Amino acid sequence: MKFFSTRDREHFVSFEDAVFNGLAPDGGLYFPADFPDMSDFFNSMTGETSFVEIATGIVDQLVGAELGEGEARRIAEEAFPFEPKLVKFEEGQYILELFHGPSCAFKDFGASFLATVMSAYLKKRGKKATILTATSGDTGSAVAQAFHNKENIEVVILYPSGRVSPLQEKQLTTLGGNIKALEIKGSFDDCQRMVKEAFLDGELKQAMTLTSANSINLGRLVPQSMYYAYGLSRIQDIAGKDGEVHFCVPSGNFGNLTAGIFAWKWGLKADGFLAATNANDVVPEYLKSGDYNPRASVHTISNAMDVGNPSNFERLETIFHHNIDAMRATVKGEMVTDDETKVLMKEAYQRDGSFIDPHTAVGLIAARRYRDSLENKAAANVVTLSTAHPGKFLEVVEEAVGVQPPLPAQLEALKDKAKVSVVIENTLEALKGFLLK
Ligand SMILES: *Cc1c(COP(=O)(O)O)cnc(C)c1O
Repeated sequence: MKFFSTRDREHFVSFEDAVFNGLAPDGGLYFPADFPDMSDFFNSMTGETSFVEIATGIVDQLVGAELGEGEARRIAEEAFPFEPKLVKFEEGQYILELFHGPSCAFKDFGASFLATVMSAYLKKRGKKATILTATSGDTGSAVAQAFHNKENIEVVILYPSGRVSPLQEKQLTTLGGNIKALEIKGSFDDCQRMVKEAFLDGELKQAMTLTSANSINLGRLVPQSMYYAYGLSRIQDIAGKDGEVHFCVPSGNFGNLTAGIFAWKWGLKADGFLAATNANDVVPEYLKSGDYNPRASVHTISNAMDVGNPSNFERLETIFHHNIDAMRATVKGEMVTDDETKVLMKEAYQRDGSFIDPHTAVGLIAARRYRDSLENKAAANVVTLSTAHPGKFLEVVEEAVGVQPPLPAQLEALKDKAKVSVVIENTLEALKGFLLK
């Protein structure tokens, strides 16, 4: 399988190049040259098929030839010591919990797979690389956890001093080993600027292999398609193979949704997809009006989805050949307000004491409206992706529900660990000083 840029269908690259380049040189996003038919494999799944088994099957059919004999299974086993879990929310509504990994959010699946694949390629080539990344708090932790102890890789994370929550800071600064946390005297924008400047710096380019682990990396997208297959295998185990299955995806940059549509293109049974957004509803607006108007994001209580110009829209358009009617036939959109989000979190708690994180809550409200609108409602099951553990968003959940949700064990364990960081000025010189020493 080869990959091309969404902006250039003439030049193909290997999976290895797509993974290490991150972004294509022309600024486009890497995209699979074709979609192999995996329906026999998907049809063979049962309620007992493990996540590692599903991951192995997909990776093998996609890039098995490039990775080499037995590598797909080895990588799947190393990357996924955690699994998703499907639970019932109410009649016809299910939640696919994706927060059982080390940072308690779905991004663990993509980051862990990318880290494992990168490390495997580097070892094969006898090379070392440094991952350089800036974070405003949340996104860095999945990357830090995923790359921790991976051979041939160092990770340098820049974060703005005093501007991330204490728990987020612990997630970035307590791993040690090959994970280095740089506390920048400045803002998140300073951190991002320094990373950008470092990638352009000739002296650094000479001295080391710098690479990134952005969420647009194809190596993070591919593994996100695996849990749709897992979700389908579990819902069919519960409800049989005849009913309709729809997926509802709380969306920001639309990586998760794009990955689900990849799985559908490979032959996974899915009767529809719903993109659920907060007030940052550029894509639902587009599906309604046909006009695509990216804009500055607005702040909401589901802040990991506060994206006004979703980077994966380009991939979505490529999948549907820039044909809005084709997209509309498969993807619907729903916008959900903060007030609605809070009401749902409260309702779920009052009903049975369960806590829902704000991003998942956006999905569940949208999923209810969506299922109500289906012709074949009684036979339809909607699976909403639960993107984060409620304990990750303590303040927001507590404010909506009136009770503090429990911290997940992974975060509870951090409380006693000591922070280790290096404080530096917000200049490229300071960053170079650290990297080159
Ligand atoms: C990243 C994130 C999202 C949005 O996912 P996209 O793939 O960017 O659409 C939703 N919820 C949580 C908790 C996230 O961290």
